Amino acid sequence: MKRDKTICSHAEEYLKLIEGELPLSPEEKFCLTHPARVYIFTIPIRMDSGEMRRFNAYRVQYNDALGPTKGGIRFHPDIDLEEVSTLAFLMGLKTSLSDLPFGGAKGGVEVEPKTLSKGELERLSRGFVRGLYPNLGPQKDIPAPDVYTTPQIMAWMRDEFERISGASAPAVITGKPLALGGSRGRDVATAKGGIYILEHLCSLRREKWLQEMTVVVQGFGNAGLNAAEILSEKGCKIIAVSDSSGGLFQKEGLPIHVLVEAKKSGTALTDISHGSLRDAKKISNEALLELPCDVLVLAALGGQITMQNASHIEARIILELANAPIIAEADTLLFNKGVFVIPDILANAGGVIVSYFEWAQNLEGISWDEKEVFSKLQKQTTAVADSIYLEGKNLRTCAYIKAIRRILEAEKLRGRL
Ligand code: GLU
Repeated sequence: MKRDKTICSHAEEYLKLIEGELPLSPEEKFCLTHPARVYIFTIPIRMDSGEMRRFNAYRVQYNDALGPTKGGIRFHPDIDLEEVSTLAFLMGLKTSLSDLPFGGAKGGVEVEPKTLSKGELERLSRGFVRGLYPNLGPQKDIPAPDVYTTPQIMAWMRDEFERISGASAPAVITGKPLALGGSRGRDVATAKGGIYILEHLCSLRREKWLQEMTVVVQGFGNAGLNAAEILSEKGCKIIAVSDSSGGLFQKEGLPIHVLVEAKKSGTALTDISHGSLRDAKKISNEALLELPCDVLVLAALGGQITMQNASHIEARIILELANAPIIAEADTLLFNKGVFVIPDILANAGGVIVSYFEWAQNLEGISWDEKEVFSKLQKQTTAVADSIYLEGKNLRTCAYIKAIRRILEAEKLRGRL
C-alpha cells in the first residue's frame, strides 16, 4: 500500500484518546491528521571561522480555519519534521481551546544553539525569516519563542522581516523585548497562566492549599524556572528541580531564589554550590520524575513519561508546562492510576494567550500595564478551565473535545468540510 507521507502519525495517536466520545467522519479525521502547509528549507550561515554551514529548518502551518497560524520556533539538535508537525497540531488545539482567533503552527531549526556565537545565532535567526518570508505576516503566520529561542531572537526576526518588506510590522512576531513592541508579562506568562489554572482547578477539586503542597519541577528554562519561583513565593515546598545537567533533591525544600539567581548568571543547576544546599543530593532525571509529591511540574521536553515509567509515577497532580511531555498511551495509564493531569494545551496556554495580547496591542498601537495583562490572563485561563472541567473526567479528553469541535465548526462554516 502507498504510504501517506503527509499524515501526522502522532496526531492520529492523540485522536484515539477521544475516539469513543467524539465520533469523527473520515473527512474530519483527514483534516485533523494532515497539516495544511509544510515548509522544509535550509539556512546557509557563514560561521565565525569563515566556513559555510547549512541548517535544516521547518515550519508547519497545521490548521488555519480559526485565523492566521500561531506558534513558536524552537532551536534544538534533535528536532525533525515529525516533531514539528506534532507540535503544530497541538498548537492548533491550544489556540482553539483558549478561544483565540488563531490557527496552529510550529517551527524548528536543527541546531545546538549553545555552540553558536551571538553573531552566528543572529545570522541563523535572520536566515529563518528570509527562508520563509512570503509565508509570514501579522495576518498569515505569527511566530513566537519556544525551546532555546529568546526575546532577542524575536527582535532579530522582526527586524529582518521589516528590512525585507520595507514597512513596520510589529505584529509579525510575539515574545519580543518590551522596547520592540513586546507585551508586559509575556516573559512569565507560561508559568503564570499554568499556576492560575493549577490554583483554580485545585479549588474546584477541593484540594488542600497550594502552600501545603510539595512540588517537583522538571526543567529550569523559562517555564520551569518561573513556575518554581512563583510556587515557592506562594509557600510551596519545592523538593526537587532539574535542568539538562541533572537534578537536585532536598527533602526539606530547595532555596529556589538561590538557584534562580545562579541559573540566570549561567551556572548549571548541578554546579551550584551554596550553604543553603548542604543537604541537597544530586538526582537523575528518571528518579526525579518518580519522587512522591503533590505536584509534578513537567517543564522540560516532550516524551518524558512513557509506558516504561508511567506506572512508577507517585505524584498526585501533574502540570504539563512543556509540550507533549506525556505520550498518548501513558496518559490513559496515569488517568486509570488516579493521577490528575492538567494537559499541556491548557496548562501552558498562558504563553500564547499573552502572545495574543501582544499581537492585539501591536495592531492597535497601544500598551497595557502588567496588572491589566495578568488580570486578563487570569480571567481567560480560569474561564477556559471552567469550560472543560468535569469531576472524574480525563481533563485532556475534555480539552481535546472542545478544541476539536471549534476547529471543525470553523472548517464547516468555511465550506471546507
Ligand atoms: N511556544 C509557545 C507554545 O508552545 C508559545 C507560542 C506562541 O506564543 O505563539 O505555546
